[in-house]
Amino acid sequence: MWRLLVTRPCFPFSLLEEDSEEEADLCRICQIAGGSPANPLLEPCGCVGSLRFVHQECLKKWLKVKITSGADLGALKTCEMCKQGLLINLDDLNLTEFYQKHQQSRVRNAPTLPPQTTAG
Ligand SMILES: [Zn+2]
Ligand SMILES: [Zn+2]
Repeated sequence: MWRLLVTRPCFPFSLLEEDSEEEADLCRICQIAGGSPANPLLEPCGCVGSLRFVHQECLKKWLKVKITSGADLGALKTCEMCKQGLLINLDDLNLTEFYQKHQQSRVRNAPTLPPQTTAG
């Protein structure tokens, strides 16, 4: 009869050890560092650390998703995480237009009109 005695070494927890690697400016959405003149990294709100930067294009896409999921313009202009107003011009990103179109399509899809039936 073999008995395997497993002794678990008690590792000291090194949670306080900081991983202070060089922090690049990463986009919080696509996690890619750096921007370009056409698609700059923005600091749209009061978030810090890894949430600080976001690409203009990524922000635009993200806001469009929010619009499609039913957020109103006030909510769009507020960061969900830091609750600060986003320092962006929605008109620049054509988001107001996108928002209005979305609202219109919702109105059109609303079941207010009775379906027209033609007998024939
Ligand atoms: Zn990005
Ligand atoms: Zn924020």
